[in-house]
Amino acid sequence: MEIQFYGAAQTVTGSQHMLRVNGSSLLLECGLYQGRRQESYQVNQNFPFDPREVDAVILSHAHIDHSGNLPNLVKRGFRGRIYTTPASAHLSNLMLMDSGHIQELDAQYVNRKRAKRGEAPIEPIYTMEDAAYVAQYFESVEYGVTFEPVPGVRAHFVDAGHILGSAGIALDIDEAHGVRGSTGNGGTFRLWFSGDIGRRDLPLIRDPVMPSGADWMIMECTYGDKPHRDPEQAYEELREVVGRTIERGGKVIIPAFAVGRTQELVFDLHRMVDGGELPQVPVFVDSPLAVNATDIFKRHPECFDAETREFIRHDHHKMALGFEMLTYTRSVEESKALNDRTDPMVIISASGMAESGRILHHLKNNIEEPRNTVLIVSWQAPHTLGRRLADRDPFVKIFGETYERRAEVATIGGLSAHAGQDMLVEYAEAVKETVRGIYLVHGEAKPAGMLTEALRGRGMEKVFYPARGEKAEIRK
Ligand SMILES: [Zn+2]
Repeated sequence: MEIQFYGAAQTVTGSQHMLRVNGSSLLLECGLYQGRRQESYQVNQNFPFDPREVDAVILSHAHIDHSGNLPNLVKRGFRGRIYTTPASAHLSNLMLMDSGHIQELDAQYVNRKRAKRGEAPIEPIYTMEDAAYVAQYFESVEYGVTFEPVPGVRAHFVDAGHILGSAGIALDIDEAHGVRGSTGNGGTFRLWFSGDIGRRDLPLIRDPVMPSGADWMIMECTYGDKPHRDPEQAYEELREVVGRTIERGGKVIIPAFAVGRTQELVFDLHRMVDGGELPQVPVFVDSPLAVNATDIFKRHPECFDAETREFIRHDHHKMALGFEMLTYTRSVEESKALNDRTDPMVIISASGMAESGRILHHLKNNIEEPRNTVLIVSWQAPHTLGRRLADRDPFVKIFGETYERRAEVATIGGLSAHAGQDMLVEYAEAVKETVRGIYLVHGEAKPAGMLTEALRGRGMEKVFYPARGEKAEIRK
């Protein structure tokens, strides 16, 4: 069989890997490529294959760089099933609609500029309406349940410990007898696709399951160059920052990704307030996407780890993501009302890099008050407002106006949802005895190079770093 790497190949974004086996085409992931605007537009609009010839898709998790071009795939004629876990299907529906909205706004913005130059308008990559069409193609499969996406390929999901519903995928491939019901005398081999690998001890979700019995592996390497700090340390840092801000009568403003990071923070704050580690401080989640995503988390307790289940059993609210002091604001009025309050509070709002969304209003209203804290809880891309805040710029621009930053800025590392180098090495070592080749994807050259070195140092010689469009032939 053949693997062709179309996306997240020598980069971290736009995951798409095509498997061609027994005359079928099976696509792993259909991610949106996110980069410079014009290049992204080209890459996302023009699939390097005919979507009508894809027989099925397997999706490891709902993040847009893995799922985000599904609306376009469907729009261009794909009519197969999209296999994913139940939680990932629900989260993807929500995130794709949000992404469709963003694509529409983006096209409007570009078209205003084009109109000034007398150029014809462009179409959005896809619209919310296009995104809504994807839902009917999802086929939810629980972890550990075998399914046959195309003849001769039997697959199952295992926990990836990355975000709610995330999965690694074992693909048992019978090339010689790729027909349904065949006993197969050619024997099978196992291709393992890691998806995005999470970490142990992240709040809420279960830990990643290590691969087993893999003959070949496609593996992510986002942080192949560095270890991560302990999530427990992040918990302690969060408690300290919130504690000291409340003590001086300030507000804590946290730009956070609506899906994943927001729910982790809510759960941690719930534990702190209930456990008396923090005073009874009001916490607001002010982002429509985060509020809707939280509803999906609540509907999928089957994805929670033992610690969270235990917490829920003993918690008097009987839930992880709700407590007296917590308010999910939905309307704009509720959001605006927070501006008039002067009491200490925590406001968690999107977007995660403070580029858009309600967080901008909260920053604008609170950044000039020295009692307040802006808390940065994730990596911030260059040239974003989040990065300027993390860099402690003394003046920042919000909605075109300049504000003096008098609020404290605190940063917490250690909350990454991706495995660090040690964990990636451990992941590969789990199949060291059987694996004949490892293809590194979803990583820049430096982390890929350092991980390759680390793996070779442990006797795994056949490590590859395929370029976009590159093919690999694998067999029993
Ligand atoms: Zn991811």
